[in-house]
Amino acid sequence: MAVEASCHCGAVRITAAYAPTDINDCQCDHCQKRGVLWAYYSPRDVTVTGANSFYVWGDKRIRFHFCTVCGCTTHWTAVDPTRDRMAINARLLPREVMAGATIRESPGPR
Ligand SMILES: [Zn+2]
Repeated sequence: MAVEASCHCGAVRITAAYAPTDINDCQCDHCQKRGVLWAYYSPRDVTVTGANSFYVWGDKRIRFHFCTVCGCTTHWTAVDPTRDRMAINARLLPREVMAGATIRESPGPR
């Protein structure tokens, strides 16, 4: 069943084709400072609407998107368009959706 997430102000809305079962609490310094939890998907399974910008750092393989109004981190996308992977910030999902997933820590991106 599809799940929906939104930033704090509601300008950015994300629809994912199914609820995540596994969420990554990435322990890298960047994700820790952002306070995000990542749920991974194929870009084919996710729709994002609303104005957002992104930040790129390090090896510049990932765009970290955020709402241009309220600043919430919303998702990341791969710079390489052939990469079949992206993630949404699971903290933007409804609490009951989060409750159905297992949160695991990883030392870095997965
Ligand atoms: Zn917003």
